[in-house]
Amino acid sequence: MTITATSLPKLPFDAGLTYINGAWVGSSSNQTSDVENPATGTVIATVCESSKDDVDAAVQAAYRAFHDGPWVNEYSGAQRRDALLGLAAAIEQHRSALELIESINVGKPIADVRVEVDDTIDLFRHFAGYADKVEGRHIASQTNQKLEGYTVKVPVGVVGFINAFNYPLNLLAWKVAPALAAGCTVVFKPGPQTPLTTQYFAYLLEKTGLFPEGVFNVVLGGAQVGQALVDHDLVDKVGFTGSVATGKHVIRSTASTANVRATSVELGGKSPGVVMPDVDVDRTAKLVVSGCMSNTGMNCNALTRLWVHRSIYDAFLPRLKAAAESLVLGTPQDDATEMGPLIDRRQYDRVLEYIRIGRSEDRADVLTGGEPLQDVAGYWVRPTIFSNVSPEARIAKEEIFGPVLSVLEPFDDLDEVIEVERRNEFGLAAGIFTRSHKDIAKFTRKMRCGTIWVNNYNALYSYLPFGGFRNSGFGRELGYESFDGYLATKAIIDDVSSE
Ligand code: NAD
Repeated sequence: MTITATSLPKLPFDAGLTYINGAWVGSSSNQTSDVENPATGTVIATVCESSKDDVDAAVQAAYRAFHDGPWVNEYSGAQRRDALLGLAAAIEQHRSALELIESINVGKPIADVRVEVDDTIDLFRHFAGYADKVEGRHIASQTNQKLEGYTVKVPVGVVGFINAFNYPLNLLAWKVAPALAAGCTVVFKPGPQTPLTTQYFAYLLEKTGLFPEGVFNVVLGGAQVGQALVDHDLVDKVGFTGSVATGKHVIRSTASTANVRATSVELGGKSPGVVMPDVDVDRTAKLVVSGCMSNTGMNCNALTRLWVHRSIYDAFLPRLKAAAESLVLGTPQDDATEMGPLIDRRQYDRVLEYIRIGRSEDRADVLTGGEPLQDVAGYWVRPTIFSNVSPEARIAKEEIFGPVLSVLEPFDDLDEVIEVERRNEFGLAAGIFTRSHKDIAKFTRKMRCGTIWVNNYNALYSYLPFGGFRNSGFGRELGYESFDGYLATKAIIDDVSSE
């Protein structure tokens, strides 16, 4: 197979700079890091690494913009709504450049990126609609002639966002659109591997001329930069997306600063899917494979633990194998490509190590894949399916974050699945495939996870909340729930009899 090294389009901003307080600035430490095309392993850009001082400058800018600037103190909700709509229009105008850059930097199939950019535009429009609908409550039954009691909702303040690498622009929109709609100001750190569309977004935000300086700021780099942001006392809320290990560290950090602060953490998953005997096997096999392998399995909600009913187990496995083997791997910028590479060397080594564990420690059968692509540069691993996996095996319990599906030993009864899944460390998502209304009702009632797909998998909408139970985190993104997460409530008790 030949993978073409597609050239990055000319960027309309200087990739060596970042956007702080309405201006493009370099790092005060002059440190830089290289950004790769994971399909070829070649360097496509060099960006600056923000220093602790740069993080401080960004937070101070967001703090001034929140407390003294017009965004919160003069703009009406309708003006913020129009600013977000202007941003959606700017993204739409630049969508082909954004799509190409995202596809090259993340190694994502271009067809998938188009859907993500559609979603991104929709997210800014959706949350624009909330900006002029911030509502409090008046509780008439609790007031008397003398005192009036009511609540008002106010923006929580400066939000420090730390993003994962896997959906750079889309997850930025999940976070930034509701936060700006609520009237917050933002310091945003993308994953270190995939900063380019975040910088492009800052360029577009600036170009609209609708956002006062300091409302949106970007810092770039890895763990140290994220830590400096989490530790900054002027940050009122931390919104984190990433692994469980880093998420736990972030929670501990947000509690050890001088001021405790609101935190939401969107973490990993090991999401189960259940195939009941009454399904259309071909359709379901394809849904399961895309549920697991889309974004090369680098999906927090990937369907990675599959339960197949004993009565169709032997018939289902060949369909699953055929569906995985029919996935088109190739240059991510080709329209026909369905699966790209892993993000970097670290993730590639991690996935291959789990495949080794599956074969040796876990003694599972390799149904298909189980190896890297030969004779290509970049970080390519074939879609891999293990069968007859014990639910207690490491490949069945631990998040791999790659194109690896564990088909568990066959089951006889849905109650047995629900019982075992009660011990799942994660609780992000689950799927069930069946026509039985009774089984669907039982499964959706009993499963403790944030999203449950019935006869489909992976569909997400701006208006439906997304988030986890247990180690998958807390807080919700998308929907009204996420908007509400950027608002704080004040109770006002007013002596209306006073002069
Ligand atoms: P990661 O935990 O390695 O890094 C996430 C972010 O945290 C990066 O920006 C990183 O630079 C930053 N970071 C690292 N150390 C830090 C520290 N000490 N303080 C503050 N920030 C720090 O995760 P990743 O490899 O980028 O992403 C993969 C993980 O993200 C997977 O576990 C996946 O399930 C999860 N994820 C979850 C969701 C969700 O919505 N639940 C969505 C996407 C990804």
